Amino acid sequence: MLGHFPPSHRFSVPELASPIASAFLDDVAHRVRDARARIAEARARGGHGQDVTLIAVTKTHGVDAVYAAHAAGVLDVGENRVQEAEPKRAQCSAPVRWHLIGHVQRNKAASAVNFDLVHSLDSDRLAQALHDAASKADRRCDVLLQVNVSGEESKFGVPAAEVVAFTERLHAHSAIRLCGVMTMAPFDADERTLRDVFAGARQCLAHVKAAGHDASVLSMGMSGDFEIAVEEGATHVRLGTMLFGAREQ
Ligand SMILES: *Cc1c(COP(=O)(O)O)cnc(C)c1O
Repeated sequence: MLGHFPPSHRFSVPELASPIASAFLDDVAHRVRDARARIAEARARGGHGQDVTLIAVTKTHGVDAVYAAHAAGVLDVGENRVQEAEPKRAQCSAPVRWHLIGHVQRNKAASAVNFDLVHSLDSDRLAQALHDAASKADRRCDVLLQVNVSGEESKFGVPAAEVVAFTERLHAHSAIRLCGVMTMAPFDADERTLRDVFAGARQCLAHVKAAGHDASVLSMGMSGDFEIAVEEGATHVRLGTMLFGAREQ
């Protein structure tokens, strides 16, 4: 069973050699294989011909989840909160790419620029903060524009209608590289709505490219909707529950 390891098994690498942990490794490897097979089938059905990167979302799980994903061949890990991710990254020597997928507060910009890709750029003020933090650290920050395609008020993200203007303004921030678009579909939406949202995000990516950005990433699809997202052109899917079981928090 996933998610029922005693705390001592959750945070230190040597514990992974224990029998419980090896069952965990097997379980995650099995789930990763299953996810990859379903992604491949969806990709064939969708016909966009894109490569699809699987991001293992390890939020609320210990660093053992990162090692298990890496052992199963996953090279990309997603966390949604800087505060949770930083200690995990410090503990973890697995050579994975770290994705920041949750909303970023401006006062966390200095930490956010340490991630390999920030999926959640959603305001001019955050763009400025990431640019300033990256410039100060003498580095470049790779970001995705989070787009609110469905128009739900509860969602973060730039409305689809504002993407072109927003994207044009981003050229002023030389320490930021806009690599693509991220979206989240409404929870519990029907298939028609999901397709509309994901196709809308794909359209937004086209606008980002037309505005002169070298952008190719389309991050969309979670455990409940990733197959439809891949059919609609997702290049990155973010899977938590499917790989590690239900979260307690
Ligand atoms: C938690 C989270 C996911 C993963 O969700 P699951 O339904 O568990 O696969 C994906 N994207 C974002 C932004 C998240 O916060």
